[in-house]
Amino acid sequence: MPYKILNTKNIEEYLFSLSAIREFFNSQSLEVKEIGDGNLNFVFLASSKADSTKSLIVKQAVPYLRCVGEEYPLSRERMTYEIRSLETFATLSEHIPTIYHSDEAMSVIVMEYLGEHIIMRKGMIESTRYPLFASHISTYLANTLFKTSSLYLSNVDKAALVSAFVDNSELCKLTQDFVFSAPFMTHETNAELPELQDVADKIANDTELKVKILELKYKFMNQSEALLHGDLHTGSIMVNQSDTYVFDSEFAFVGPMGFDTGALIANLVMSWVSHHVQDSNVEYLMWIEETIVSVWQLFTEKFITLWNETPQSALILKGYASAEVLQAYQKEFMHNLLQESIGFAGCKIMRRQLGIAGVEDIRGISNVVTREKANRLALNIGEQFIKEYKNIEKIEDIIKIMKV
Ligand code: ADP
Ligand code: MG
Repeated sequence: MPYKILNTKNIEEYLFSLSAIREFFNSQSLEVKEIGDGNLNFVFLASSKADSTKSLIVKQAVPYLRCVGEEYPLSRERMTYEIRSLETFATLSEHIPTIYHSDEAMSVIVMEYLGEHIIMRKGMIESTRYPLFASHISTYLANTLFKTSSLYLSNVDKAALVSAFVDNSELCKLTQDFVFSAPFMTHETNAELPELQDVADKIANDTELKVKILELKYKFMNQSEALLHGDLHTGSIMVNQSDTYVFDSEFAFVGPMGFDTGALIANLVMSWVSHHVQDSNVEYLMWIEETIVSVWQLFTEKFITLWNETPQSALILKGYASAEVLQAYQKEFMHNLLQESIGFAGCKIMRRQLGIAGVEDIRGISNVVTREKANRLALNIGEQFIKEYKNIEKIEDIIKIMKV
């Protein structure tokens, strides 16, 4: 179907032109609300008037930034990459909402409504624990990263994957600019935070830090390892006590694995910082620390299990690697991946303090003194992550950095 902007009035007609969706709703008429709270796109909730348990989410990209308006154009083709990545991830992981329909030309995706789940960031702000989260997200990460890499795919399939995402360069450039560059220099898009000017200036003049950030940005731009979600923060995850779902993957591209694992770690660390400065709820802080450690340990175990099930690949030809060679390489691979994850996590933490987009966990702190304390602690942790990433030996090392 050619592109047409959807709204609460015309959405029913659009949905009922799709036979699978018409069947889902038994052709009952719909109530439609716009519920998006994100920056970029429109998200509608369509529910059957006759049966309120029957609901679907309709997400559409418009050719501009939703939060700013038509004067900030951003090509709607970003939805093409969200569709392609979510559909790929859905074949590899159960932690993706069911997709009922997608249409690249319409820049639209219709998916399961997660009505009994909450955005993980909001849940963590309310100090809710999610006991199965580490297990679920480590399964998601191991499957999506391993099975889209050259440790699993043939050369031909890997090349096809790279080319399916290579044109998402507009969103990759947003990451390059807003995660790795603008926050570390004087830039008009940075947040106006006069109380942090001294530390922002110090950062902008820190040669060691800036060289490390360039190293990491270069990896981001050139290391085509696996299909990434590209923006795996706690606002892109919906959870409850029994399930975990990942969505909102419009920044997807084939990049360094550590960028996804690092994004997740960064956001868990920022939640820790937020609780640490506000309420020192020791038990909750401990749960976050344990979660960070478990995510990494379980991810490593699951990634290696998948690897041992498929030891031969485009990388490792039959007859090349003895068990000893394979094990030694796996150890080095995971060690390097941990280090890069922490480097990327550091960039992500720092940019959320100084850059255009903050996180609610910290920017939402109403007491200005406490908020500044959180900003400074997060900046300090992020800086140490970046400066020390090549010295990280095990995940527990970062908990030590957080507590110094
Ligand atoms: P954007 O690309 O604009 O950031 P998101 O995909 O993050 O859009 O969606 C915006 C909001 O819409 C989410 O924060 C969430 O509250 C809601 N949302 C999105 N998808 C779903 C879903 N499948 N079920 C329930 N709520 C959803
Ligand atoms: Mg979002």
